[in-house]
Amino acid sequence: MNSAQNDKRRQLLKAGCAALVMIPIVAVSGKAMAAKNAAMRTALKYQDQPLGDKQCSNCLQFVPGKTPTAPGGCKLYPGDTEISPRGYCTAWVKKP
Ligand code: SF4
Repeated sequence: MNSAQNDKRRQLLKAGCAALVMIPIVAVSGKAMAAKNAAMRTALKYQDQPLGDKQCSNCLQFVPGKTPTAPGGCKLYPGDTEISPRGYCTAWVKKP
């Protein structure tokens, strides 16, 4: 095996190792995308159940998820991507 072949082989091994290292990083970052703003949830007494007919999906502050039943966000909860459309908190305001 000549020097050029060894260089090529080293490059392939490095690329393969880099790909293997990236698998857990992608898996972890995928989970990191889903986040809860615990401080705001506590402050505004967020709950995953509606209060009567008051729920996030009919609140002015709700930012819908990908589907009507998927978790979304809230304009008052920075970084929180796990707001249930059927959730509720004390800041609820009827959507016009
Ligand atoms: Fe839901 Fe409260 Fe945000 Fe309204 S303000 S969308 S009730 S979390």
